[in-house]
Amino acid sequence: MNRRIVSFHYTLRDPEGRVLDSSAGDPPVAYLEGAGQIIDGLDEQLRTVAVGVKTRVQVPAARAYGERDPEQVQRVKRTLLPVEGELQIGETFRTGEDRQAPVVTVVGIEGDEVLLDGNHPLAGVELTFDVEIVGAREATAEELSHGHAHGGAGGGGGSCGEGCGCH
Ligand code: ZN
Repeated sequence: MNRRIVSFHYTLRDPEGRVLDSSAGDPPVAYLEGAGQIIDGLDEQLRTVAVGVKTRVQVPAARAYGERDPEQVQRVKRTLLPVEGELQIGETFRTGEDRQAPVVTVVGIEGDEVLLDGNHPLAGVELTFDVEIVGAREATAEELSHGHAHGGAGGGGGSCGEGCGCH
C-alpha cells in the first residue's frame, strides 16, 4: 500500500480523562505515514482509518513515550545546574543550550543536591486519542524522500516549509 499524507484533529487524554493536548482551534496536524512524525502507536493504528472517520485510539506507554526508567533519575550538585535562582519541585529545564538537549524535571531537593528525572513527562502513561481524519492523499516522491509531509492533505505536496531542516 502506498504511504499517505494524513491530516487529522485530535484530543489527547491521560488515563484519568484529563485533556493533555488538543488540536482544536489549530489547523489539523499533517504527517507522512511511517515516518516517525507522530508517535508510533498512533501512526500504526490510523493506517486503516478512512477520511471522515472519528475514532478513539488507545496507545500503551511502550508505543507512545516509553515506560518510565528509574535509572533516569539522577542526583546532581545544585551548583552544576545551568539554572539561576530558586529551584522548585516540578520545574523543568533543558540540560544544554541546544534545542535538542534533553529536558529534565526537578523531583527533589536535598541540601545542596537536586534529584533530576530525565524521563519524558508522559513516560509510563497510556494515551487515549480521540481522532478525526480530515484528509488523506498519496505522498509525493519528494515527501517520501524527505520523510515528512509538505503541507496538509488538502494541498498537493508543494515544497518544504520554513524550518523543515531537510535542505
Ligand atoms: Zn521536506
